[in-house]
Amino acid sequence: MKVLLHSIGCRLNQSEIETMARQLLAAGHEIVTEAAAADKVIVNTCAVTAEAARDARNLTRRFHRQNGAAEIVLTGCYATIAPQELAQVKGAGRIVANQDKERLVQMLIPQASTAQPLFEQEPVLREFLAGNAGSTRAFIKVQDGCDNHCTFCITTVARGAGQSRHLGDVVAEIQARCAAGYQEVVLTGVHLGSYGQDMGQKMGLRDLVQAILRHTDIPRLRLSSLEPWDITPDFFALWQNARLLPHLHLPLQSGSDSVLRRMARRTRRAAFRTLAAAARAAIPHLSLTTDIIVGFPGETEAEFQQSVDFVREMGFARLHVFNYSQRPGTAAATMPHQVPLETRKERSRRMIELGEHLSLAFHEQYVGVTAPVLWETAVGADDAGLRWVGYTDNYIRVQASGPEGLFNRITPVQLTAAQANGMMGQLGGWDADDAR
Ligand code: SF4
Repeated sequence: MKVLLHSIGCRLNQSEIETMARQLLAAGHEIVTEAAAADKVIVNTCAVTAEAARDARNLTRRFHRQNGAAEIVLTGCYATIAPQELAQVKGAGRIVANQDKERLVQMLIPQASTAQPLFEQEPVLREFLAGNAGSTRAFIKVQDGCDNHCTFCITTVARGAGQSRHLGDVVAEIQARCAAGYQEVVLTGVHLGSYGQDMGQKMGLRDLVQAILRHTDIPRLRLSSLEPWDITPDFFALWQNARLLPHLHLPLQSGSDSVLRRMARRTRRAAFRTLAAAARAAIPHLSLTTDIIVGFPGETEAEFQQSVDFVREMGFARLHVFNYSQRPGTAAATMPHQVPLETRKERSRRMIELGEHLSLAFHEQYVGVTAPVLWETAVGADDAGLRWVGYTDNYIRVQASGPEGLFNRITPVQLTAAQANGMMGQLGGWDADDAR
């Protein structure tokens, strides 16, 4: 059977689609990249914003136009919270909720196994992943669900209570990815910082990270989003191991305490300020990034300005700015004083502008510095060779000219120029022996 796989939204969705791809290949089926060539299309949907839900509806219609004979199977958060709405879309086939997602491939192919295949077909999978961010970095799902109730969040509704994967399974999967040639893995989950809390044992994310660093040879270990209230300053001792990458994504969501209170976020500016200072003191070259929602119900101009001032004070390396999206089924959706769309757009524009200014300032510190870059893709060619794009250990996007054969290699790069979206670099004196 030929299957097209598509993921919308977060790294967790990406990781789940990669697992489905491995299960399909392990069962002897083919992954295709065009709907026209597919017998089945699987879309892992997202419900975080109204735009993400609209993307899923548009994709379904497009895949159906491209191939009316293929069954389009819809899963993920949007399929879980609004199955009837999605089923109305032209071309929609089976709707599979999140709680059944792990059995989805078996539902399509009864003889397929639901086990996480640890296998030698990674090159085939890489071919499929080539279009996605995951081609040199493997996203590893270690946790699902969340027990918090942030008032804007639909994910906790769509994915249910927190569940952790067994530490041994995670370590084995990472060793398999490492053996297959991956240089970097990214631990991902809905509420990563709560890892282990549902296991009734005195075990947490720190234990998982220590086990991965001790029992695998993966050169680069990256953590995805961590809720600030889950980590304590002693957590930062883990970064004494240079394989744990100096990048922390701590979603702040707002820089106004009164807005944080209405969001039911379990952090405030003072606590976040202390945590950020402790992280910077403990982790050299730390890249601190965050998510910010603008236009949350009731957000006054004064509260928005507090958010701007605090974000500037924190000096984040990168901001992900979200225009508040009213999600049916969340507490915030029925709050009074919803902020008009034009005001939200204007505030997004101002916060994004600040974010670009802060990113440029962060990158400017690294002009003249030599950093290890994992090369991901060639985006063109010039007189000096291929133009490669990759990421430093502290998640700076770097572009440099170089020879063929850099894909999935880590090389030292001298960073030469700063931009808001990354840096230019030089591969002076690089040869195959330098590559790690
Ligand atoms: S911590 Fe809050 S924002 Fe994050 S998944 Fe849980 S409820 Fe949603």
